[in-house]
Parts: sequence; C-alpha cells; structure tokens
Amino acid sequence: MKKNKFFNIGISRVSLILSIINLLLFHYPFFRHVFQNTEGGFNGMVIVTSLILIMLVANYFAFYLFLYLGRFVGKTLIAITFILSAVGLYFINAYDIMIDETMMGNVFNTKYSEASSYFSLTGLLYLIFLGLLPATFVFLVNIDYGKLRKFFARIGISLVILIVIAFGNMTNWPWIDKNATVIGSLLLPWSYTVNSVRYQMHQRENNRKEIPLPDATIKDSKKSVVVLIIGESARRDHFSLYGYQRQTNPRLKARESLRAFKAESSATYTTGGVKAMLDYTTTSKLYEILPNYLYRNGVDVIWRSSNWGQPPLHIKKYYTDKDLAKKYPSIDPTHDDILIAGVGDIVKSSDKNKVFIVLHTSTSHGPTYYKRYPANFEKFTPVCRSVEMSSCPQQEVINAYDNTILYTDYLIDNVIEQMSTLTEWESTVIYVSDHGESLGEKNLYMHGVPKSIAPKEQYEIPFLVWTSDKNVKFKNNDELLQYHVFHSVLSRLSVSSPIYNNEMDIFEK
Ligand SMILES: [Zn+2]
Repeated sequence: MKKNKFFNIGISRVSLILSIINLLLFHYPFFRHVFQNTEGGFNGMVIVTSLILIMLVANYFAFYLFLYLGRFVGKTLIAITFILSAVGLYFINAYDIMIDETMMGNVFNTKYSEASSYFSLTGLLYLIFLGLLPATFVFLVNIDYGKLRKFFARIGISLVILIVIAFGNMTNWPWIDKNATVIGSLLLPWSYTVNSVRYQMHQRENNRKEIPLPDATIKDSKKSVVVLIIGESARRDHFSLYGYQRQTNPRLKARESLRAFKAESSATYTTGGVKAMLDYTTTSKLYEILPNYLYRNGVDVIWRSSNWGQPPLHIKKYYTDKDLAKKYPSIDPTHDDILIAGVGDIVKSSDKNKVFIVLHTSTSHGPTYYKRYPANFEKFTPVCRSVEMSSCPQQEVINAYDNTILYTDYLIDNVIEQMSTLTEWESTVIYVSDHGESLGEKNLYMHGVPKSIAPKEQYEIPFLVWTSDKNVKFKNNDELLQYHVFHSVLSRLSVSSPIYNNEMDIFEK
C-alpha cells in the first residue's frame, strides 16, 4: 500500500518531471551548439532562457496531452521516445551526426545489419541508462488523471506561455531561422519525429503526379532564347530603377530597352513565389510547370540553382551550384556568379532553336546578407555581420542588404551582356523576385508573414524585362503578377498552346 501511494502522482506533476528528465538527459549537444553560436551578453541570455522555457513547456504540453488522451498507449509512446532519444543521442555524440530530414531518409533506407554495425558497448549503456530506465519510470508511476476541466486549463495555459515567449522573442527569429536546421536536429524527441514526417511527406510530394497541360507546338524555326532569373528576397523599393535614392542599379540604369515593371508576389515565401512564376494560372494544384511543359514540347530547357523550393522538375539539364563549381573551377562558387558562368555559350551550343534557361539565385537571402556578395560589392558600409540582426543598427542591416542588390544589378547586367553577343538569337531576359523582405520595419526581419497581413516590403517585387530586339513592344500594364511569366515566355519562344492567355502576355503581338 505504501509503495502504491508513493507512485501515485498527479498527471501534471508527472508531465513536468518527464519534461525535466527529457531536458537534462538529452540536450547537452543542443545547448553546446547554442552557446557556441550566440554572442553572449544580454541577448544571448534571452535566447538561452527562452529556449529552455520553450522546451520545458512544449514537452510538458506534449507529455500531458499524450498521457491524458492515450493513457496506456500514451505511456507506451512516451517510453518509446525515451528509448529512441537515447539511441539518437548516442549517434549524435559518437558520430557527430545531425538528425535532419536527410538522415531520417537514410534511416528508412538502411537495413538492420548495416545500422547495427554502428552500435557499440557505449551505445548499449546509453540505451540502458538513458532509455530503458526513464521508460520504466513511465510505467511504474500510477497516474492520477484528474478532471477534463483541469486538462483544458493546463493545456490552454501552456499554449499561451509558448505563444508569449515566441512573440516576445520576435527580434531573435532571424537567429532561430539561421540555426534552425542544426538546433532542430539536436532537439529530442522532435528531431527524429518531425524529420521522419517531413521525409515521408516529401517522398509523397515528389511522387505527386502533375496535371499535364494540353500539347503545344513550336510555330517557327527562328532562334530564340529566354533567360528567367528568379530573384531571392529582392524588394522593389531598394532598386534605384524604382526610385530608391541610393544608386543600387548603376549598370542596369544604362541599359537600353530594359523595362522595369511594378509587380506583386503571390506569396511571401520561396516555394509559393517560385511556383507562381512557373504556373499558368492561380492554383494550389500541381499543374505541369513551365520548364517541364516546354521541355516535353521540344524546347531546350536548362535550370541552374543555388537555391531550392521549386516544384518537382522533370528535365534533363538541372544543375546545382555545386555541379557548376566542378564545371567552372576558376569561378568562386560561394556567390551567384557561378550561376551565370558561360550562359551565352550554352545557348550557342544548343542543338535546338528554342532555349529556356532558369537561373534560380539566392543573392539576397538573409540573415547573413554580407556573405552573399563578393568583397568588391561592399559599397555601402558599415554592414551588419551578426545573425542576430536586431543587435545591429538597422542602417547596417540595410547597408548589407543594399550591397546584395548592387550585386544583383551586376548579375542581371552580365546575363544581358552575354545575351547581346548572340547576334543570331532573339533573346529575352526576365528578372522576377520570389517575394520581398523586411529589414527591421515594424520590428520584422526577413519574410514569411502570411500574405494577407504581411507588410508591403514583403510582397512588392521588381519585374525587369530586357529584349535584344529594340522594336519589341510592351502592353501598358500598371502592375504585373508572377503569373505573367508563363504566358510571356510562351510568346517570346513562339510556342503555340491552347492554354496560352493573351491577357497575361506582357508583350504586344
Ligand atoms: Zn525566397
């Protein structure tokens, strides 16, 4: 009887004990990483304290929820997480691995015989002391589950605490964003559960069949090429072409037959913006995207990327910056110069009369703008060199960002230069950003605020078009959408298709 009484504990206290055990047993590598990547001082303290609080409350929340709703099943699941976390921690410490999505992909594709060869006596000790012991505790306690009213109160309070901490720390979001992959991979049991789900979801996404568009035909044999440069986080009001008082577009300003249209992005995040540029209409469905469509209908399609997040591509010539670094060893692969290398040559050597090239850049991606351009583009100084953007004076964040726009100006201009040497070809260069960027206005940084409530800095984007033929006429559009890309590209490549929509073509026929 005595023993029974000792183990009779309220659900709230059990959840808290489990949450503390989870924090203490499994998070030494996590906090080692956090300490190594904060700059100390008051802000560093805020980050560390917030992370401890969030972890305690979030795990309390999860354990409480599992135990209350699952009872014995909940206990079993929690016990399993302790065992898996012990194994995970062993691998983190022994092999310095990151439990990210790729790693979970490896786990799902590994045979037991391969995996077991990594395990050792130390691993067994981890398993017993950090896994089986706390798992036994979970089963030994006799939980007093309490009333449903209490359940809602506790769950509600922990949610409120989480929201308050998250929003109280908004200025540290860029730090979290920058470190998300690593700290996320060290958070147990979340790293392996969340990344397993993400892996499975992406597997499904990649296998998702796109809805095919009706066949298209190429109308003539004129040689024509369109280069679509997809910008990253480029906001319109920091381009001098659109009236910014700083000279961020010295090269493009001098280009004849370059048109600068105002445009609005359809999302404030990369995957949404990129999809809208490749879709033929506003849709959340996966229709055949522009590069796949053109490739299937006989156009030579090349995609080069230092970024990610496009819908699944079904083309032959896809190259990442790493692939290109091997091809162009003399070019510094850390900046987007690598994407524009030899673009003119690949057009010349094409065996087709119609060529479509996509350059998916990453130039203005935060938070470390200062790393995104070569040293000779550091014209606006001093620049913020911290990932904790809010710890820099706002002007330093803006200076670093403006240098990325200055570098973008060079990149676009260089592509135009390469195209203008192709005298046999009719060429078009289109530059559209995926979304905008906040630079500390209203205490917001970077992007990703839902479009309906986002500030205009996050969705007002540049849409630049250059044509080699000076006689090409544009319609009088006040403002464009990313969906204009699809139909305008069809038009410039003389591709005839039943889904072509003249209203969405920026060119006069
Ligand atoms: Zn983006």
